[in-house]
Amino acid sequence: MTRQAPLIAELVNLATARRRGGASVQPLAGEDLVTAFAAQLGDQASASLRALPDAGPRLAELAAELRQALLAERPAGQASHINAMIRRYGAQPYLVEDVGQPFHLHFHGWGGTQVEALGGEFATALALIVDGYGPERFGACEAHQCEAVYIDLTRNASRRYCSAACTARAKTAAYRNRRQM
Ligand SMILES: [Zn+2]
Repeated sequence: MTRQAPLIAELVNLATARRRGGASVQPLAGEDLVTAFAAQLGDQASASLRALPDAGPRLAELAAELRQALLAERPAGQASHINAMIRRYGAQPYLVEDVGQPFHLHFHGWGGTQVEALGGEFATALALIVDGYGPERFGACEAHQCEAVYIDLTRNASRRYCSAACTARAKTAAYRNRRQM
């Protein structure tokens, strides 16, 4: 399920971040959000998402819920947000055989649209990350002028920034601060 982690962070960041990597950005909505996010998915999921008439508002809602879950108070608030999403999207485990892959477990929600399918997958992925890695694995980027979230799957839970670019910016800023002291 950890393969979902970059997708979850990307959806949240596309739809909710007003500052990213040191610059102001416009959170995406409607068709722009659908197009940008669908480009990250496999062919089939991408096509079903783009075919859904109200995919934009549904995706935006999912992104807002995910952001709340990622940044909720730990551990109890986080667990209750994730549990609420699992119930809401009706995530249920079942084995799927994709082309070129052996049977593997999916947790699609059963609301019928691609957004509910993703909601179930993503909520379950967060639950499995908390279960396997502990509650301290989600955060908001600590670099200046960035509201992006990240999911930390490093061995030693060392992540503080959303991207390599923000890590580099933060290092440069810290170096400058030290020189000025
Ligand atoms: Zn950042």
